[in-house]
Amino acid sequence: LLTIEGVWKNYHGHSVLRGIDLLVEPHEVVCLIGASGSGKSTLLRCVNLLETVDDGAIHLDGVEITDVGADPDDVRKRVGMVFQSFNLFPHMTVLENITLAPRKVHKVGRARAEEQARELLSRFGLADKAGAYPDRLSGGQQQRVAIIRALATQPRLMLLDEVTSALDPALVAEVLGIIRELKEGGMTMILTTHEMGFCREIADTVCFLDEGVLLERGTPEQIFTDPGEPRTREFLRTVI
Ligand code: ATP
Ligand code: MG
Repeated sequence: LLTIEGVWKNYHGHSVLRGIDLLVEPHEVVCLIGASGSGKSTLLRCVNLLETVDDGAIHLDGVEITDVGADPDDVRKRVGMVFQSFNLFPHMTVLENITLAPRKVHKVGRARAEEQARELLSRFGLADKAGAYPDRLSGGQQQRVAIIRALATQPRLMLLDEVTSALDPALVAEVLGIIRELKEGGMTMILTTHEMGFCREIADTVCFLDEGVLLERGTPEQIFTDPGEPRTREFLRTVI
């Protein structure tokens, strides 16, 4: 579904991604781990074309999205991204937040977009919040709405960047629950998290990034119980 080949990204002459190769199969859940500054967010941003790559290529469904002629809006129609900070539009209700992209980008009619939004809200236990403004919701609810908003465009791939980091521990569980449901529904995802327990539970593949290098990858079992690289072992020792 997604291939990342030899991707390099430099900021001011400093390479933050150094030749990343990664293949993501349909329905696969890939979890990126690594120290702060190792390049996890930058890699996700490259996949969503929020950053341009300096070398290498990314293909989505066989089409090169890093090609100069590729349309970023077209890519973002097929790739949903959710950030640590929920980024909901404060002046719009939950329903308006969710239906915005389907209506404006995908040209879905208002009635159909709202019907789909309400379906998603009930599926994730937020049916009663459709008319609420974001500031009336808890952090966990806001983040669930942000995830639903990304889902509303029926993306091929979801990118989730530290989606629980800004939340009180008590609210983390409800957001992890929605991600678990997405996995059960077969959604292909790349996520970054500092929650190693969750990573271990949800990931099919764990990738360890070290200073912009994808140093090691494997099943959660391999990475968490028997990492091959000393740097991976060292990192896990500091976070577990
Ligand atoms: P964290 O776990 O803290 O979220 P990360 O692994 O997501 O870290 P990135 O945000 O990808 O790390 O950052 C990787 C490196 O790139 C860092 O050294 C960061 O300072 C640098 N960087 C990121 N964005 C920019 C930018 N827009 N301009 C310059 N440097 C940047
Ligand atoms: Mg980050």
